Amino acid sequence: MGNLIDGRAVAENVYVDLRRQIAELKSEGVTPGLAVVLVGDDLASRAYVGSKDKMSRELDLHSVKLELPAVTTQSELLKRIEELNGDPAIHGILVQSPPPKQIDDAAIVRALAPGQDVDGFHPLNVAKLAMGDESGFVPCTPLGVQRLLVESKIDIAGAHVLVLGRSMIVGKPVALLLMQKAKGGDATVTVAHSRTKNLEEVSRAADIIIAAIGRAQFLKARHVRDGAVVIDVGINRVEDAGHPRGYRLVGDVDFDEVSKKAAAITPVPGGVGPMTIAMLMSNTVKAARQIAARGSPERLAGA
Ligand code: NAP
Repeated sequence: MGNLIDGRAVAENVYVDLRRQIAELKSEGVTPGLAVVLVGDDLASRAYVGSKDKMSRELDLHSVKLELPAVTTQSELLKRIEELNGDPAIHGILVQSPPPKQIDDAAIVRALAPGQDVDGFHPLNVAKLAMGDESGFVPCTPLGVQRLLVESKIDIAGAHVLVLGRSMIVGKPVALLLMQKAKGGDATVTVAHSRTKNLEEVSRAADIIIAAIGRAQFLKARHVRDGAVVIDVGINRVEDAGHPRGYRLVGDVDFDEVSKKAAAITPVPGGVGPMTIAMLMSNTVKAARQIAARGSPERLAGA
């Protein structure tokens, strides 16, 4: 299909560049290290953590996968994070979400050194994104969406972008990123959510639609103008008796309908997903560079 944006191919290009950067860092005696922490036994989380660990190993990074039981307490987890924070071989740390109920997600994120927060969820990194300070870490999925658009030579500057969804993981950061006064930014951004009125009208006015709502095949042809670019962030399981697993993955976009109108569109799987992992690796390499230059990860004053 001529209008398909192939996330796997773009991610491969990212890895070519990252391998060069990793070799350079290694020649200076630095092996970027990533610790991925999984608490509990959620199957989807386990699969995500497995892919992240696998990719770290393929890139020859120092990879630590810490699997903790579902009964882990908040203080036990904080202790493990403190150990990782102090480990000189670790440059990036992420705690896979969602954690079990007894864990306060926000407190865990605040316990990370901002300079090691390769998921970009720490308040200091959120503030840096809002301020356009490029020393911060931007969440991986929004960063991957921007990179897909840039590598696909889609004009972002001046374009009307509709971001569908306002989560802290995707919607808000991708809106901030694309509206920045910077390369890969300068878009006119509208953010829509469950309370938005006249969504069809709003979305038909957009040159680029980024769908991140977690509703299977929600965005239909009637929401999209001819020639729009559609980036589908959604990952939803739908039952499929004909599939060996009994389900298949679909996005937030009705691909069959929308692909007939879109100038360019990402598939699910194989669109944004591979870019999220590629950007995690890229953030880890960035963290290693910064720590090598500073001697220690950025922490908050007094922390
Ligand atoms: P989330 O935290 O559940 O947020 C969903 C957002 O969509 C909310 O802002 C919600 O509005 C809005 N929304 C829900 N129903 C809507 C509707 N009918 N019309 C308009 N807006 C609606 O989800 P998320 O974490 O951002 O994830 C979104 C999707 O992306 C999920 O499918 C997730 O699995 C996927 N995802 C994929 C990747 C990847 O690597 N590809 C990474 C992260 C997430 P309100 O704020 O008003 O409730």
